[in-house]
Amino acid sequence: MVNFNPMQQWICHQPGTLSLQEAEMPQRTLGSSLLRVRNIGICGTDIHAFAGNQPFFSYPRILGHELAVEIVESDTFKAGELATIIPYFNCATCGACTAGKPNCCENIQVFGVHTDGGMREYIVVEDRYILPGNGLTADELALVEPLSIAAHGLRRADLKAGEKVLVMGAGPIGLFTILLAKIQGALVEVAEPNTSRLQFCLENLGVSEASSTSYSTVIDATGNLLAIESGFVKMAHGGKYVLIGLQKQAISFSHPEFHKREATLMSSRNATLEDFEYILNLFRNQMIQADLFISHRFSKNQVPGIFTKINEPAEQVIKAMISLAV
Ligand SMILES: [Zn+2]
Ligand SMILES: [Zn+2]
Repeated sequence: MVNFNPMQQWICHQPGTLSLQEAEMPQRTLGSSLLRVRNIGICGTDIHAFAGNQPFFSYPRILGHELAVEIVESDTFKAGELATIIPYFNCATCGACTAGKPNCCENIQVFGVHTDGGMREYIVVEDRYILPGNGLTADELALVEPLSIAAHGLRRADLKAGEKVLVMGAGPIGLFTILLAKIQGALVEVAEPNTSRLQFCLENLGVSEASSTSYSTVIDATGNLLAIESGFVKMAHGGKYVLIGLQKQAISFSHPEFHKREATLMSSRNATLEDFEYILNLFRNQMIQADLFISHRFSKNQVPGIFTKINEPAEQVIKAMISLAV
């Protein structure tokens, strides 16, 4: 056993603060591995938690769930190997878990949301949540989780090649949904009111701006109440609507409009191992270019100011990535 110094961690004691602390190294238990955090992708959830408007969130909390890690000590994986983690810790025994849907476990604990996450130098994670990278880079591995969220939403929609799909919202999840829907052969249009975000999609993803009146699949990646409610009448007859974005309020829609379409409404929560493996394979086949989406990079000593920086609208952040590499 190597004798490490105390490690550094960044903790959000209350909304609006992120402070550097020294902490004891976490101790590995049977069936778990000790991991060194290499990259941390910053997600909307982290931004909302820092701002204090994430529902059901308690403080103090160590944020960060989009991770690339290096195996340090493990009975299962090779030391030195890079990996990513599935951050949705599940009970394995509830109805959802036994039905093969651990992503919506009744007792789910999301790493970095319900429990302390990855904004620290070392973490201990159960082996069943660790996915070795087999040659993928730290940038790629830290993007696997948000891409898997998009992949899960699309898998719910069960897209057919040539199908007309509307993606609402071109934040990271919307961009990833567009990218994957195109890979799956759909004809994709995007609705995004922010002109620079819209421009990014048109230039980089080969997608067109929403101009049709109906789509066989509509996917919401905004979480915005008005956007979600506007999506119902954009469904074609027999269409599907998948809500990946999350809205705090009740949503309402015209039942006659919904009924006459014989429409299907679905929520999409987190992602499963199948989605993670699908994304890992796309990276291995060079179908996804990580650099395209990483707009901002931060090193260890820039972490405390990160949220102030990326909340500046002028920064036009797509995905901010922290690298803790020494
Ligand atoms: Zn996330
Ligand atoms: Zn469960």
